[in-house]
Amino acid sequence: MGKHYDLIVVGGGPGGIASAVEASIFGLQKILFIEKGDNHSQTIRQYYKDAKRVDKDWQGQTVDMEGNVEFFDGTKESTLEYFELLLDDEKIDTLFECEVDRVIKEEDLFSVVTPKGDFTAPNVIVSIGRMGKPNKPSYKIPASIKKVVNFNPYECRGNEKILVVGGGDSAVEYACQLSTINNVTLSYRRESFARINDINREMVERYDQEERLRVRYGIDIDSIENAEGKVKVNYNNGFHTIYDRVIYALGGTTPVDFFRKSNMVLDEHDLPVINEKYETSVKGLYTAGDIVYKSGGSIAMAINHAYHILKDITGEDGGMG
Ligand SMILES: Cc1cc2nc3c(=O)[nH]c(=O)nc-3n(C[C@H](O)[C@H](O)[C@H](O)COP(=O)(O)OP(=O)(O)OC[C@H]3O[C@@H](n4cnc5c(N)ncnc54)[C@H](O)[C@@H]3O)c2cc1C
Repeated sequence: MGKHYDLIVVGGGPGGIASAVEASIFGLQKILFIEKGDNHSQTIRQYYKDAKRVDKDWQGQTVDMEGNVEFFDGTKESTLEYFELLLDDEKIDTLFECEVDRVIKEEDLFSVVTPKGDFTAPNVIVSIGRMGKPNKPSYKIPASIKKVVNFNPYECRGNEKILVVGGGDSAVEYACQLSTINNVTLSYRRESFARINDINREMVERYDQEERLRVRYGIDIDSIENAEGKVKVNYNNGFHTIYDRVIYALGGTTPVDFFRKSNMVLDEHDLPVINEKYETSVKGLYTAGDIVYKSGGSIAMAINHAYHILKDITGEDGGMG
């Protein structure tokens, strides 16, 4: 698989599928379609019951199809089969089981950063839906301390004693970033960081050596408790420590994480600010599908976004004008 594309589509649901298909119809030659699940349309596969009726005008949202990709009422199964056929296009390279970490603009090209390597393109469409979930620890998080047990760093206000749990790039980036205005410990259950990139490895080792933060390797957590509104962390070596806040960075990105890492300007609902062409604050980086809205959205709406985005990218009407 080559590493440079005319367009990269991140997220393999209806918005992503329609984006890749419209791109092919609009004449782009090399399109990369990246999905974190083992197949396209994870929201439909995971959240729709078998044989569920799929309505085009879902929940009263009447939509006229505007582009080249049609959509009809059907069932979960007929919808998945239809999307399967749409993706059967030789110009579309599909890459499954690949969770995109971020999209970074470097001069005129985007670099799409993934565990399977980086890919470049002049335009990127992000259609990752709103269903992303962070991985959670196996033990219970008491409801009374949920406000100070987080899965990203955005609630931190400074001057806090914080424990960051995890050993990937996000955990390291959160810990280093927070340590400038907080007292931070990074706890990882393995003996060394095996999964992080070289820049983060150098950064966390330097921060640790300079005592800007504390890294505790080879230690696991048995449970957490409420300690007068703070978090008592019970380690598996029999000791415990009390923190103002605990942040788990155990993988499974949420959309807001992704948007922030990709330098998109966000609105008050933590969704990307976009113009009428669905382009974000980063020129050439577009969003389609459910993430265009705070709530609502539908398959047909996501499909329409794709058409308008391709019109904007190519400056053509794709035979629909
Ligand atoms: C129970 C239920 C029933 C519904 N019924 C209907 C209906 O009958 N008709 C209708 O029109 N709509 C229905 N909807 C809404 C519809 O499913 C959504 O509007 C639609 O799926 C939005 O498409 P999307 O492409 O924006 O996002 P999604 O379908 O959520 O797809 C996003 C994809 O991106 C992938 N992804 C996420 N993060 C990354 C990453 N970092 N890297 C790579 N891939 C990533 C996900 O795995 C997923 O496959 C229903 C929704 C639910 C939950």
